[in-house]
Amino acid sequence: SDALERALGLIASIPDHPTPGVVFRDLTPLFADGAAFADVVDALIAPFAGRFDAVAGLEARGFLLAGAIAMRTGAGLVPIRKQGKLPRATEAQSYDLEYGSATIEAHRGDLPAGSRVLLVDDVLATGGTLGAAIRVADRLGWDVVGASVVLEIDALDGRAVVSGDGAARIVSLF
Ligand code: IMP
Repeated sequence: SDALERALGLIASIPDHPTPGVVFRDLTPLFADGAAFADVVDALIAPFAGRFDAVAGLEARGFLLAGAIAMRTGAGLVPIRKQGKLPRATEAQSYDLEYGSATIEAHRGDLPAGSRVLLVDDVLATGGTLGAAIRVADRLGWDVVGASVVLEIDALDGRAVVSGDGAARIVSLF
């Protein structure tokens, strides 16, 4: 739609950030525009409307989107965080980065097993983060209805990595 195209146009591209050769996509100008933010939040919800009980936001920009989605839909909100931030027992999953590895985790017991959960993040790049989140969700007994992201870096083919980890439906707006 024209509204989503306008929102897309607000995303900035930062060459050589955080390291040389990487083009970092910066969504903060989109978030700063109230109409664009609302249009994007509604578009993230639409493919899964009425089919989730909770939204799980991936740290950190996924939290911003998840909060808005939760308020708009009446769904609950759970954070999937980088290791060491959550105070109670968690399920954790590590995944490979270009150099080294990272771990994300979610609380056990924030949601009952069988909860229908929508995962949300700003950008899908290599798919490592989302793939790990799906593994955590599976281990917690969540019924992952899908994943919504604003932007997918097509060249990295993260979607293929994630679908190797599960059958969750991934929707990317751009
Ligand atoms: P992946 O694990 O390689 O798919 O990277 C996805 C994670 O890194 C998400 O949580 C994103 O927020 C973040 N990320 C990767 N590339 C970008 C980017 O260009 N802009 C903003 N976030 C990014």
